[in-house]
Amino acid sequence: MNRFIVAALLLSVLCLVPAAGARAQWLPTGALKAVPVVRDCNETSGDVAVSRRNPPAVYLCPIVVKLIRKNYPGAEHFYFVHEFGHLALDTSDEAEADCWAAKTLARAPNGGRYLRAVIELLRQRPDERSPRYGTPGERAERIRFCAEEERANALATVPASRHR
Ligand SMILES: [Zn+2]
Repeated sequence: MNRFIVAALLLSVLCLVPAAGARAQWLPTGALKAVPVVRDCNETSGDVAVSRRNPPAVYLCPIVVKLIRKNYPGAEHFYFVHEFGHLALDTSDEAEADCWAAKTLARAPNGGRYLRAVIELLRQRPDERSPRYGTPGERAERIRFCAEEERANALATVPASRHR
């Protein structure tokens, strides 16, 4: 299937979800716009989303997206942005992709909603350590920290006359 059709279908599905319908979601820009997004649970092996860097592609599992959305609406969008973090930075490092996604969402319209949802989800997870992500609690803290840092930077770069 043509990747633009896949992207259009994905977008229409995301927009049909009532909770997300009225709220803008982050969309890839620049070079990331050309990255195909493929809905295929086999490719994600039970995970919500994965990315491959050579050639760049993001894979989403609609079943897992739906499950996450049911309990923590908006958290699924963080995982989507996280995969673009791997591609934007050309890294397999999970902490770097998390931080990129946190900063990107901190700047995006309604981004705070998605960040709050994923932080809440991670804080509910059992405290098991993963070699790639650390514990879910550590991951939540990393996302919160990176988003805060970005917000502080954004405030610092606003011209003084615009401070109220
Ligand atoms: Zn990752």
